[in-house]
Amino acid sequence: MPIDPRLPYDENNIFAKILRGEIPCKKVYEDDHALAFHDINPQAPVHVLVIPKGAYVSWDDFTLKASDGEIAGFTRAIGTVTRELELDQPGYRLMVNMGGHGHQEVPHLHVHIFGGRQFRVMIGD
Ligand code: 5GP
Repeated sequence: MPIDPRLPYDENNIFAKILRGEIPCKKVYEDDHALAFHDINPQAPVHVLVIPKGAYVSWDDFTLKASDGEIAGFTRAIGTVTRELELDQPGYRLMVNMGGHGHQEVPHLHVHIFGGRQFRVMIGD
């Protein structure tokens, strides 16, 4: 079920627990602004999630409330992760699901990185 992105931040959401180290993840990158780890149910040969360290429910929440430094740091971290995974030459796809129509399921902002194969259709069901 998609989340309601208007609800306040839930400190017990699964990615908050991963950030606090209460639940393990297959980490690929971490800095002051972001943590990146492999998706538990990969939809491509490479499927990595990048999350900000701050408590932001969604892309909407983040772009409304995060500082310029947080936004710059998070965006740069995504670029760093894609290069460290050597996806910059073959290419990759980024995706953010936001709220109900976006079918966002975890109420902590996350950017999906997909790679490792050729993608065709822009949007499936
Ligand atoms: P959304 O639909 O919210 O954009 O995507 C949520 C993603 O989080 C899904 O791709 C799902 O597989 C992933 N996910 C959910 N729970 C966990 C977890 O506990 N660990 C990891 N690594 N990924 C998770």
